[in-house]
Amino acid sequence: ERVYGVSRWGGGYFHIGENGNIKVTPNPSDPSIQIDFKAVIDEIHQEGVQLPVVVRFHDILRSQVANLNTIFRNTIAEAEYSGEYQGVYPVKVNQMREVVEEIVDVGEHYNYGLEAGSKAELITVLALNTNEDSLTILNGYKDEEFMRLALLGRKLGRRMVVVVEKYSELLLLVKISKELGIEPLIGVRAKMTVKGRGKWESSGGERAKFGLSFAEIINTARYLKEQGMAHCLKLLHFHIGSQLTDIRSVKEAISEGGRIYAEMHKMGFPLDYVDVGGGLGIDYDGTASTSESSRNYSMQEYVADVVYGMKEVCDLEGVPHPNLVSESGRAITAHHSCVITQIMGEIRSNSAGVDTSEAEGEHYFVKNMREMASTFDQQTNMQELYNDASQYKEQALDAFKLRVLSLEELAKIETLYWEIMERLQEYYAHADYVPEELQELDYSLSSQYLCNFSVFQSAADTWAIDQLLPVVPISRMNERPDVNCSLVDITCDSDGKIDQFTVGREITDVLPMHKLQPNEPYYIGLFLTGAYQDVMGDMHNLFGRLNEVHIFSYDDDPEDFYIEEVVKGSSVEDVLSIMQYNPKAMAYDVKRLIDKQVSAGNIKPREGVRWTDFYEACLSGYTYLKTGK
Ligand code: PLP
Repeated sequence: ERVYGVSRWGGGYFHIGENGNIKVTPNPSDPSIQIDFKAVIDEIHQEGVQLPVVVRFHDILRSQVANLNTIFRNTIAEAEYSGEYQGVYPVKVNQMREVVEEIVDVGEHYNYGLEAGSKAELITVLALNTNEDSLTILNGYKDEEFMRLALLGRKLGRRMVVVVEKYSELLLLVKISKELGIEPLIGVRAKMTVKGRGKWESSGGERAKFGLSFAEIINTARYLKEQGMAHCLKLLHFHIGSQLTDIRSVKEAISEGGRIYAEMHKMGFPLDYVDVGGGLGIDYDGTASTSESSRNYSMQEYVADVVYGMKEVCDLEGVPHPNLVSESGRAITAHHSCVITQIMGEIRSNSAGVDTSEAEGEHYFVKNMREMASTFDQQTNMQELYNDASQYKEQALDAFKLRVLSLEELAKIETLYWEIMERLQEYYAHADYVPEELQELDYSLSSQYLCNFSVFQSAADTWAIDQLLPVVPISRMNERPDVNCSLVDITCDSDGKIDQFTVGREITDVLPMHKLQPNEPYYIGLFLTGAYQDVMGDMHNLFGRLNEVHIFSYDDDPEDFYIEEVVKGSSVEDVLSIMQYNPKAMAYDVKRLIDKQVSAGNIKPREGVRWTDFYEACLSGYTYLKTGK
């Protein structure tokens, strides 16, 4: 726990069990339900599902929707706020059908709606969000078809709000709604001067990509009045960025947004809703701080700041409290899914050595390096020793390129060099002061654990924006992890790695893991991947989508669970077809080549059939490495 901080980022859903395995409490309000993650992996194997795999806990998804809605409702009651909460889930955060359907199902009870930001998403939510009492918020840039689809939603009795992001959209919407004779519900997105703090701060400020300036908001309202449609203007929207790290930005946004709402009310445009957008952050690194992968507030504090903040502005201005909408996506979905993979092996710079004993006629570089290693205990200036050894190694490489040293001699020098470095690392392990050059030693001597997955498919933000995600072994947590390592994936890309972790409360480039045991699989989980990571991955190196299992818990047996559904990941033929290949034709071509060798007598007929079957089986197989168990 001290190393991995599971309870700090686990949100009450994950912790370490007494047997050293990760345990899942899918519904923290019923802590008696505890699922052993190792048992989930065993069941995955029994079902014949290959790793890597995305594991979704639907109960966690349900619990997060219930949490957010309950907290808003309770806070509204406690604050004597007169509006209601009508939240929406922004589908872009995770558009998987099973995820959205689950959210809609549990959200029905709270009139919790959906948000769409593109035409494809609008087409999706039009079919899914059939509760007439919930809102459907339509953000993003829009064309004529988009407007028609939104008005179709109105015709079907749905509360679809078209949020105007750009003034020209307003003109288009008014024109089409008049043409079709369908009244729209209209929102305006304000370009806020408040900027969020964190990786997404450019969502706010004057250079923000979306939203109307103050002048455009006033022009919108006046134009609608001229067109006899002022009553259609229902909602004010703002969003100052995702993963807001500092609660101060939330407070500032609410007071600025509240003022705009109040002024509009006084100008004769009484809006029904204020939509505060997304931004509710996740504590990925478990530090509960303003670090970029964390946030310095809880869901309760966030909600309290929205509700009390809006109440304060409205009471001061003497305007009614609007209904509140929020578009939290990350906070709803991050915890519910994780990626489970297996370590395939260890890569170490110093893993292999050769016999370094003296050979006749060997180069004096080898002699010198051997002497340094053998007199290590008599050395008094360790920094000098480090400098000399490093210099010899570099010179040896040059000498090898100039054909002065043989490969055998170079290998001896390399072996002796790493021996010296290991001893230096030991020497400085408990020292109060470590010279600057030697501080890199821990990293260069650390291992790299090779993981059967692709960073680009399963953890895109760790590569693209240095987002930190918790990485944790699934078992052996009651053993001391004494191998410092970073993770590398199986793509042929040196960027395919994870070398940023939190250990305790420190951000480090290596993570302590357990020593790999022969014939004992070592599973690790990449947690909090349910928001954005699940759906933003790409097919770099043709590694496709992962197999997925959906887990539900049983109420009557607190330790039991079941795999409700297995969603097959991409096969090789799936990814090839996306890239415009024709797998059937490819199988035919390879078969013909094999047949040719059979005719020439180079391959026996039976062997030819086996090769053809094998190629076809690989085409329909998984894109990741086969690990067995
Ligand atoms: N609403 C809008 C307009 C967004 O752009 C975003 C994401 O950036 C969201 C909602 C979801 O934000 P979050 O995932 O931080 O809740």
